[in-house]
Amino acid sequence: MSGLLGASLGGLRNVDGKKAKLLEQELGVVTVEDLLSYYPRRYVDRTRMYKIGEVRGVRTPVQIVARLESTQVVGVGPKRRLVAEFVDDTGRIEGIWFRGIQWIYRNMKLGSVYLLFGQVTEYNRSYNMVHPEMELYTPGSARHPPVEPVYETSDKMKRGGLNSRGLMRLMYSVLQQVGSGIPEFLPTWLVEQYSLPSRVWAVHQVHFPESSRAAERAVLRLKFDELFLLQVQLQGQRERQMQFEGHVFETVGPLFNRLYREGLPFDLTGAQKRVLREIRLDTKSGRQMNRLLQGDVGSGKTLVALFSMLLAADNGYQSCMMAPTEILAQQHYASLSRFLKDMPVRVGLLTGSTPAGARRELLEALQDGSLEILVGTHALIEDRVQYRNLGLVVVDEQQRFGVDQRARLWGKAKALLPHVLIMTATPIPRTLALTLYGDLDVSVIDELPPGRQPVQTIHCYDSKREKVYEMMRAQIAQGRQVYVVYPLIRESEALDFESLEKGYEAIVAAFPPPAYSCVFLHGQMSAEEKEEAMGCFERGEAQILVSTTVIEVGVDVPNATMMVIESAQRFGLSQLHQLRGRVGRGAEASYCVLMTGVKLSRESRQRMATMVGTTDGFKIAEADLQLRGAGDLEGTQQSGIPLKLRLANLATDGKLLGFARRVAGDLYKRDPTLSAPEHAALAERVALWGATQSGYSKIG
Ligand code: ADP
Ligand code: MG
Repeated sequence: MSGLLGASLGGLRNVDGKKAKLLEQELGVVTVEDLLSYYPRRYVDRTRMYKIGEVRGVRTPVQIVARLESTQVVGVGPKRRLVAEFVDDTGRIEGIWFRGIQWIYRNMKLGSVYLLFGQVTEYNRSYNMVHPEMELYTPGSARHPPVEPVYETSDKMKRGGLNSRGLMRLMYSVLQQVGSGIPEFLPTWLVEQYSLPSRVWAVHQVHFPESSRAAERAVLRLKFDELFLLQVQLQGQRERQMQFEGHVFETVGPLFNRLYREGLPFDLTGAQKRVLREIRLDTKSGRQMNRLLQGDVGSGKTLVALFSMLLAADNGYQSCMMAPTEILAQQHYASLSRFLKDMPVRVGLLTGSTPAGARRELLEALQDGSLEILVGTHALIEDRVQYRNLGLVVVDEQQRFGVDQRARLWGKAKALLPHVLIMTATPIPRTLALTLYGDLDVSVIDELPPGRQPVQTIHCYDSKREKVYEMMRAQIAQGRQVYVVYPLIRESEALDFESLEKGYEAIVAAFPPPAYSCVFLHGQMSAEEKEEAMGCFERGEAQILVSTTVIEVGVDVPNATMMVIESAQRFGLSQLHQLRGRVGRGAEASYCVLMTGVKLSRESRQRMATMVGTTDGFKIAEADLQLRGAGDLEGTQQSGIPLKLRLANLATDGKLLGFARRVAGDLYKRDPTLSAPEHAALAERVALWGATQSGYSKIG
């Protein structure tokens, strides 16, 4: 790496110490390289000249060449101003100055042609520019760059002489000194194959482009660098993983075939079959599988998991399936048992509340291999749980499993790591998945089983509550059930409870016994109380379940056809989507009502509109990404990857990201260990870049 790039700014010619200090304090810029990667926020194209006749309605500052026709000082006191009239062959425009009047007046040359730059306002049917930049026009002179970079600067920087222009001048001087000393780190084959501009060109042009087109090209190259380094880093991780040998599931055996041919009352969807083929290929490849399975709520992931576990059993391996909550583990156990009830395969359930006797029996059966499939919560990875030959681990709702919990799973492996299938119902936009899970293979179930009716969603103001109650009564009169959900107010459990309790009272008042029966579910209740309430609702004894978001994951009551979400603006899009997934699970038409006050932020309003507009989880996830940016998205925190890309934007640069991913794939195909001399610079760069990504931890 060039010495100058790593040098601290303070030591450079033309950089005074005060400014260097400001840059460090305000922007964290210490080295020359830091400064050069402080990119312009936008550009002002000064190659474009406007005629006065064209300025009407233009909202950005414009550049005009015009002849000075007259000057005049008018007004008194604070209104005293210099008015200069300029003309070209299409019209006239006034320049107005409130300050520096004397000096400007004295230096103006009537009859001369000036270059004016500024924001045009229309006033009394005439155009004017207040305090425009102005200089005598000499074609060909280059006092300003043709395309001017505009940098964001803080107030403190502005006071210290580093407004955008000031920073631009500093940047210019530093770039002059750096010159061609910006090394390329992409290998020659890559630069040539895709005709990329060189890095040194891009760094110069991103700050001082010769044209708007050049600026675009430079930005593209630098965005590519960011995304490519990210992908090379992630895929490197994956490459190392790929070297792990895996158990080989040689055959598709009798268990799999029997369920497939006789055990299902329906056909698998095309997407389910495709994913199963992918899993089948992985598990017979001889390498350990690390696969993420994404699919909307109700898309049939559990069944895919079941078939995968049967595949393991057919090949003499055990599987386990971990769920984030006890309720969900129980449901999985119940539905797996239903599918497997006539089959010669044993399924067990192990949770925190499994009684000691049953637990002992389970553990024994696990060790002697007579138990093929174990469903449970994190109890599955307790130290006392020993498998005879664990071949496959299914993790449901991965977002709720911490990295260290997964790490403990690896401790269970005797010789080879088990295959891993991670399932998530939180659809992640493809761009983000490619980034977050660059080290996993991703399968997507993008098709719901036939016959489902999309949930009709309505946004309703609190003032129309009575209407909503009417809807509820109508549903209940048809024998259906209703969820009413209250948000968790994170700051205080007591407050949560209070709002839930009040809500419950209001509902009971509107739906009084004995005609109606309501139950109540809250995270702070004991396991028995929860089970009691849930059971009541599941059996249809209660028509209304008032709860906090504890029902978000996994509750499955097909007869529930309506959900009312209170203070819906408090929920994020993905959470609203998860919640809504609790209804619409049967064949009946279902409804989701989003209750809010009339006063809503623009963003909240947009969120409501998105929910009303679509039930497609991937579209919702995309909208979430657009609204909030990648940094805030669920999942990014846990992934440990700080997505602080400077130029690239995961919400809008999906195509480029896909390209970067493919190129990174090509790279590892050529050189799996990045040890070829032509990749030395890249490898060094990746190592450096990886080292600054603190706390990076892989998933799975
Ligand atoms: P997910 O786990 O993705 O939310 P599930 O696996 O729980 O979804 O499936 C939801 C419901 O759809 C279950 O009742 C399941 O039996 C049913 N189901 C799964 N696959 C199909 C299919 N291909 N056709 C019809 N119903 C299906
Ligand atoms: Mg599920």
